[in-house]
Amino acid sequence: MADLNTDVRYIKGIGEQRAKALGKLGIATLRDLISYFPRAYDDRSALRRIADLVPGETAGVAAMVASPPTISHIRKGLDLVKLRAVDDTGTLDVTFFNQAWLKNSLHQGETYIFYGRAEGSLLRHQMANPVVEPEGRREVTGRIVPIYPLTAGVSQLILSRSIRQGLDACADILPDVLPDRVRQHHQLCRIEYAYENIHFPESAEALDLARRRLAFEELFLFTIGLERLRSRREVVHVPPCGGVDMELFYRALPFTLTDAQRRCVEEALADMRSGTPMNRLCQGDVGSGKTILAFLAMAWCAQNGYQSAIMAPTEVLAQQHYETFQKLCEQFGLHFPVILLTGSMTAKQKHSAYERLELYENALIVGTHALIQEKPTYANLALVITDEQHRFGVRQREEFAQKGDMPHILVMSATPIPRTLAIIIYGDMDISVVDEVPARRLPIKNCVVNTAYRPKAYAFVADEVKKGHQAYVICPLVEASEETQGENVIDYSKTLMEELPSGIQVGVLHGKMKSSKKNEIMQEFAENKIQVLVSTTVVEVGVNVPNATVMLIENADRFGLAQLHQLRGRVGRGDAQSYCIMINASSAKTAKKRLEILNKSNDGFFIASEDLKLRGPGDFFGIRQSGDLVFALADIYQDAAVLQEASEEVKTILEEDPELTEPGHHILQKKMMQFQEEQLSKMNL
Ligand code: ADP
Ligand code: MG
Repeated sequence: MADLNTDVRYIKGIGEQRAKALGKLGIATLRDLISYFPRAYDDRSALRRIADLVPGETAGVAAMVASPPTISHIRKGLDLVKLRAVDDTGTLDVTFFNQAWLKNSLHQGETYIFYGRAEGSLLRHQMANPVVEPEGRREVTGRIVPIYPLTAGVSQLILSRSIRQGLDACADILPDVLPDRVRQHHQLCRIEYAYENIHFPESAEALDLARRRLAFEELFLFTIGLERLRSRREVVHVPPCGGVDMELFYRALPFTLTDAQRRCVEEALADMRSGTPMNRLCQGDVGSGKTILAFLAMAWCAQNGYQSAIMAPTEVLAQQHYETFQKLCEQFGLHFPVILLTGSMTAKQKHSAYERLELYENALIVGTHALIQEKPTYANLALVITDEQHRFGVRQREEFAQKGDMPHILVMSATPIPRTLAIIIYGDMDISVVDEVPARRLPIKNCVVNTAYRPKAYAFVADEVKKGHQAYVICPLVEASEETQGENVIDYSKTLMEELPSGIQVGVLHGKMKSSKKNEIMQEFAENKIQVLVSTTVVEVGVNVPNATVMLIENADRFGLAQLHQLRGRVGRGDAQSYCIMINASSAKTAKKRLEILNKSNDGFFIASEDLKLRGPGDFFGIRQSGDLVFALADIYQDAAVLQEASEEVKTILEEDPELTEPGHHILQKKMMQFQEEQLSKMNL
């Protein structure tokens, strides 16, 4: 008797070799085998009559072989098997390339299903290399056929035949993790039905039911795992921070906080007062003003006698935060040490930074990866903040947190994800949203133009500079390249120097420059010693020069929408009207369509959802690619509604039975533990 843990070699037709190949797909046991879900389906269920075939369309027909198949040897490496098939509406000429064996396996007078692309004309129907099988077998035609991801040595047919056997052996012993009540309440099918129809769907409706059930189960187990993690977290205690009157801070700010900013600060402070570690995501579109939130939380820590640190994804940004924080401290009359630590500092500078880190228990620390990569020991680290989280992996955040003794964690991100999804993606974090931009801000004006517009664009830049403003010009490349077409910063800056009036300083910035040089250039730009900065995307994240009002992007069609949105976010940060000029050098329709989305909207959420529609969920802002979240079947975008249902159900169940010890929840508990171990270790939360 086979069970779910039985080795796949139990299946007829799977020997040593194939078992090895299957191993590459992660299939070792019957459980793995039947849980290996198709990546797509081909609906071959409908059959047509020969007369109804339309050249160019793919379809299946049931037809009788009218004459014995013939074989002709055209040349070395090319054999043709030909036959004529008929039904009562017409004839179909079928040709197979290099499948000589079909000559003897297709018999005159018998009916087969031919499935393929119809060719020829409406009067002379033809098919080349169709899928063929005897009528009634319904293995690869006449049904919705699953398509599995493959590897060398494993074909679709081998997989589906093996899975057929696997299901026949195990269907009756599949444990159903979902209690009957839950199943009925959410109208979910039984587990046997789900496994059967995810592999061998009886109909499109059956497939839908199966998919929904399995996605629900997966998201349900995932959410229940996270909930348990969350409840476990609350057991930890840290010394609560005391009360500091924030009104003093708020009043000393150079601007009034938006309501959203204020709410986020208060939420973070409430977490830190609670006596359990904060674990919060602060999400807000570019320009919503997240830096000041980090500063306020850090200043509050310092006031309480604790260290705090913020990690930025680039040296340029770290340097900038460092200067901002120093200025803010001055403004507030606070005498907290602000310490910078980045990878490009000299050994001597680093050494001095380390010493200060150990010495000052109330320091505000700003840095890059160096904060975790190098070997600083922190005196008293109570709060860690990561800025622009999408540039960091979950693991890095974790490593950073380990530098303190259960420090508070605040993650700042501009990645626009709907709240329901964020809850999942960021695991067990609480979420604050900065859903408002400072009131006096004028919306950025956009345009998408072709290269003929350049002279006008340069004149426009010159004009803005004359008014005292500054401009960014973005090129995709650093220097001229043989392989890649596109503008490069080196040549482009020379052109601009010639094209723009002589009084205008043009600077160059790119990733291949030394860090100290980058900082120097950025500094000069911030001080308006440089008016036009020609740069690669190194300025993409976080950089803040409010006096810049023009963002000119060359080869805009080369960049992703998210990236363009981030780049554009470098302007529109001050009171003056800002502009984004996207130059599209491509004639492709899709490029135009994509850029039109940005042209229409400055709203990161809207752009993300449009991007999703254009590209499909697999590629949404790279979140999926990050590998942090891999479900076998559920798709957090497509199954957002199922996710909602599942998480509500999880709440109900855990309220009634927090430890899942009731008899009906027995399998659930077991499965949950297993799932938690697998999934959560993968996500390394
Ligand atoms: P991001 O959310 O993209 O990190 P920043 O924190 O860099 O945005 O803020 C963008 C600009 O807006 C900065 O120049 C900042 O000083 C300014 N700013 C932040 N909050 C406000 C506010 N409430 N009113 C006016 N300006 C603000
Ligand atoms: Mg920022």
